[in-house]
Amino acid sequence: MTYALHADTFYLPNGPVRGGYLLVEDGKFGIHTQEKPDCEIVELGAASVAPGFVDTHIHGYVDHDVMDCNWDGVNEASVALLANGVTSWLPTTLTATTEQLEKACAMIGDNADRCEGARIQGIFLEGPFFTLKHKGAQNPAYLCAPDIEKLHLWQKAAHGLVKKIAIAPEYENAAEFTAQATSEGVVVALGHSDATCAQAVRALDAGAQVFVHTYNGMSGLHHREPGMVGAALTTPESYAELICDGHHVNPVAASIVMNAKGYDHTALITDCMCAGGMPDGDYMLGELPVVVANGTARLKEGDSLAGSILKLDQAVRNVIDWKIATPAQAIEMATASAARANNIDDACGFIKPNRMADFVVLSPDFEVLATYLGGEKVYSA
Ligand SMILES: [Zn+2]
Repeated sequence: MTYALHADTFYLPNGPVRGGYLLVEDGKFGIHTQEKPDCEIVELGAASVAPGFVDTHIHGYVDHDVMDCNWDGVNEASVALLANGVTSWLPTTLTATTEQLEKACAMIGDNADRCEGARIQGIFLEGPFFTLKHKGAQNPAYLCAPDIEKLHLWQKAAHGLVKKIAIAPEYENAAEFTAQATSEGVVVALGHSDATCAQAVRALDAGAQVFVHTYNGMSGLHHREPGMVGAALTTPESYAELICDGHHVNPVAASIVMNAKGYDHTALITDCMCAGGMPDGDYMLGELPVVVANGTARLKEGDSLAGSILKLDQAVRNVIDWKIATPAQAIEMATASAARANNIDDACGFIKPNRMADFVVLSPDFEVLATYLGGEKVYSA
């Protein structure tokens, strides 16, 4: 089946294009043309069409946490995420025991191909190879040094679906671990770390490529010891994740990252936990009690931010509202940049001919009007 979308703006790989028609053929994108094609036209009026959003750091949604190891819950979350314009995601684990992580990996690896919502492009293992000082909401009981054998165990359980793992680069074997994991096709990210700038750069030179929620859970920029933040800001090859919910990072600080790295090396993430899409109240993050109120999720003990309840489409609107990104730049950070940072840009993040037609229809103020997977409308506001 072939149809064409007619919209005000299309967010294409080389920037936004006004008007015209985008062909969708048998569930895949065709070309964009200014000439009206001879097929069914889907008239979108003043709306715009962007690639489906890609959330590469997200622990849960609608009361389901990846660490619950319950496939039906993860599937429900993936369906609910369509309302946020998200068409691809990386279910994200937390620091836990080796066995719990094995179970979570197996649960996703065994079921990912029958996911009914946003596509699962891989698993992000956030921990347990972190250090204590910037543990954030990671359970300190299970922190340990990087161990390639453990990664192999989890990867086997996941049937090869582990796409990314985060480590603290101050561990002695961080570079060695990074080189090996990278050679096996696993993206290494750096986070929850008190590393010096030099330690972080050493891991980057060994193949690491992402800074996990930049500023949060890492050594800050000091003029005598630039820390993890200094490394993130000065290494052009690396990608910086940002939680743009207005609570985790001040807009000025977010703008500094975007200016230093470019929008093509900054990825908007949510770091959403299970209370996303749910009312305020008491929740759990792994084994830690959390209170959700006033737009934040905080550990009951110690008040540390415990993930977020941010939706990725809200992050896009936030950075536009804060005037730190244009709409095109905001969308790039939630699609192409996020996909590239995680080496999944061959599967998602772009409107390109012959790609799965996963896209989002946005109102002039960037609210999600509809979400499409493989050319089919799967969510309508
Ligand atoms: Zn984290």
